[in-house]
Order: sequence, then C-alpha cells, then structure tokens
Amino acid sequence: MAPTKVTEPEPVIVIGAGPVGLCLTLALAQAEISVVLIETLSHDNFLDQVPRAGSNHPATLELFDRIGLYEKLEPRGIIAPKFHYWDRQEGSLIAEFDHAVLKNDTKFPFVLQCERIKIVEEALKMAEANSLISVRMGTTFTGFKQSADGVTAQVTNADGEVETIAGSYIVSAEGARSIVRKTIDVEFEGFTYPERTLNIEVAYDFTKHGYTERNYISDPVEYSNLFHWKGPPDRWRVHFPTDPNEDEGALTRPETMQARLKRFLPIDGDFEICGSNLYAVHQRVAKKFRKGRAILAGDSAHVNSPIGGMGLNSGVHDAFNLSEKLVRILRGEADETELDRYERQRRHIAVKHTQTQTIRNKRLLEERDPVVRKRNHDELRRSAGDPEEARKFLLRASLIDSIREAEQIA
Ligand SMILES: Cc1cc2nc3c(=O)[nH]c(=O)nc-3n(C[C@H](O)[C@H](O)[C@H](O)COP(=O)(O)OP(=O)(O)OC[C@H]3O[C@@H](n4cnc5c(N)ncnc54)[C@H](O)[C@@H]3O)c2cc1C
Repeated sequence: MAPTKVTEPEPVIVIGAGPVGLCLTLALAQAEISVVLIETLSHDNFLDQVPRAGSNHPATLELFDRIGLYEKLEPRGIIAPKFHYWDRQEGSLIAEFDHAVLKNDTKFPFVLQCERIKIVEEALKMAEANSLISVRMGTTFTGFKQSADGVTAQVTNADGEVETIAGSYIVSAEGARSIVRKTIDVEFEGFTYPERTLNIEVAYDFTKHGYTERNYISDPVEYSNLFHWKGPPDRWRVHFPTDPNEDEGALTRPETMQARLKRFLPIDGDFEICGSNLYAVHQRVAKKFRKGRAILAGDSAHVNSPIGGMGLNSGVHDAFNLSEKLVRILRGEADETELDRYERQRRHIAVKHTQTQTIRNKRLLEERDPVVRKRNHDELRRSAGDPEEARKFLLRASLIDSIREAEQIA
C-alpha cells in the first residue's frame, strides 16, 4: 500500500529542554519528525540548575535505551539494585528490596542513580547533533495561538527579538509553571503541602552505617530520605521535612544543617556539606492534558512529592507515549483522536499511580500512630521476605505496572 501523504505542517514545537522535552524531541526526530526545541536557559547557565530528580526506574531506563541515551548515562551514574526502608526511632533496617526479582520483567533490574542535570546535559548534546532538531537556547516562550491547521509560538530569542515560530503541534514540557497550560485555561487540581523539604548534599560515606544507595527512613518526628550520587565529589542527598513557619535563611544556616545532620547520624567531627536547597512540594494534576494542538507533558501536566522518585520518571513516560502518537498522526497513519488516548492513558496514570503512590509513600514515612506504624513495617518486612510479593511490590515501585496498565486503556 502506498504511504499516506503527510499533510501536517511540521515541525512540532516543544517548549522546555528538561528531561521530558528532550526525550520527546529525540524520539520524534529519530522517527524523522522535525522539531523546534525552545529553552529559556542559555548554554552559559544551562548546567547551573538546582539539584532535582535522579532516581531512574527500570521502565524509564528501557525508554532511555530506546533513544540511545541510556549508554551515555550509565557511566555517569550509580547502578542501585537495592533500596532500604529504615526505622529512625529504632535505628534499624525494616526491609531491603532487591530489583533482581525483576530479572524476567526488564532488561534493567535496577535503578540508575543519575541526576537530572546529567540527563539533560547528555540529551541536549544528542539533540544538537541531530539535523532534524533546531535547538533554540536562550529563547523564552511567551505565548501561542492555534487554528485548525497549526500553531504559532511567540518567543523572545537570544538576541532579545520577538519572534513567531510556526508548527504543527505545541507541546508544553516547560515544567510546573506552564504558560501553555494557563493559556488553554486548564485547572491544575490538587494541593501543596505546608512543609517544605530541605535537601542537604553531603560528602560522607553512609554505607559505613549499613545504608544502601537509596534509603527511605520513617520517623514520626522527622522522616528522611538518603540517596547516593556519583561525583566528583561523591555525594549523598539527605531530605528532611521542615517547619512551615521557619524562614529559609534559618533553615539553611550551616550550623543549623550541621545540627540536623548530627541528630540524624551522630558522627565525630562535622559533615562536609556540599550544597543545600529548600523546595515546596505539590500534588497536582492538570484537569486536561490537551486542547486542540496544544499538549501538556511532564511537570506541566502533573507534579508530585519526590518520595518514590516518580516525577521525572512518569514525565519521561508521557514523552514516549506522546511521541508514538504524534508520529502516527504526522505520518497520516492516525487521526487526532490518538491524542485523546494519550490524555486518557497518562492522566489515569498521573492520578491513580503517581499521585496515589507518592501520597501513600509520604504517609508511610511520617506515620505517628504506633499501631499503624508497626502494621506498616510488618507489611514491608513481609513483602520483602517473599520473592513473589517483593516482585509485585517492585513492579509497582519501578513503574513497570503503570506502563502495562496504560497500554490496556483504549
Ligand atoms: C528536589 C527535587 C527532587 C526530585 N527528585 C526526583 C526524583 O528522584 N525522581 C523523579 O522522578 N522526580 C524527581 N523530582 C521531580 C523532577 O525534577 C521533575 O518531575 C522533572 O524535572 C520534570 O521534568 P520536565 O522536563 O517536565 O520539567 P523541568 O525539568 O522543570 O524542565 C522544564 C524546562 O523548561 C524550561 N522552561 C520553563 N519555562 C520556559 C519558557 N517560558 N520558555 C522556554 N523554556 C522554559 C526550563 O528552563 C526547563 O529547562 C524532584 C523534584 C525536586 C524539586
């Protein structure tokens, strides 16, 4: 059968060179679709972003592998097959989960600890080397218009000029403050936790105390998370919830952070603190993921607590799901109802998986009722101790389940 004529005006306009925008851009270009990628940061400050995500789950590693990104990231990260739940009150290990039980479910039975900044650095290099991608660094997106046939994006380019860029579709991968989402007037439903999370980066070998590369530490007073990152310098991130009434200056004073760390783990001498930041935690999902030719993906469509490391991962899953549909539409093999399926699939996952699980993860760590705490911990021990239960638990935690479930949605 002769191929159907492509009638859509390319390119696809992607706003934001975060992990979601870059993965979408690479997946489209590798399917011969041209893309204009707009990023407000310039080459001079692109790598100066605050530390954020970086626990990349098996389902995401499979997607990175599909576009040739995994092989660039593995040498820059830490392969972490195991993670721990600890009880800070008792100072004891509750349960150890080992992704090895997923060896028949995925080519990657582990998490790759590789920070967002390394992901975008490597993916940007790949995008800039692809002739189908026009990367517009230092270019700020300010608004767009759409008609039945296409879109036009307004940007202020690197020379400070206002420019209009035409395309077939516009995808907002701009992050939580998405201008596209506001322009199409879509509500960002959900809530923001009153307490902010303090992230302290420390050069210290926590494995000496029995910790593994990824640790969730429950405590009714001050739960925390502890994650290892490859250097230089070799670092660990320790997350703590903070009092909503305390100001940022007080919370991030070196002596205050030092005292907090020593309460967490008393050591001789001081911890070597390499950095810190404080961030608000939101649980929100856009009411719609699409209006006409404007589509939301990643943080512009959903944001969640980082406990469980799901924001970046589920955003990257949006990118690949959407790329497949846009490719079919732009090749004339499918119509725009494909985009409604994107919304049905990925919104369902955002609400039923990502939000539900991250809210549950936080509750588990901060639980105050001793009876419920004990029941939760017993349940974790039971799951970790039974290989079939552990596999079920990890299929969910590694987001393999969420990809399989989305595929079932027509
Ligand atoms: C402290 C912290 C820890 C986290 N840890 C994890 C974790 O372990 N695992 C996990 O999965 N998730 C984690 N997350 C969440 C994760 O960082 C985000 O979900 C992820 O970065 C979202 O990717 P994105 O590409 O959608 O948006 P972003 O990463 O926010 O990228 C958006 C891009 O758009 C650009 N942009 C914005 N506005 C414009 C504009 N007007 N014009 C042009 N460009 C624009 C920005 O400069 C940026 O480059 C964490 C978040 C935080 C805050």
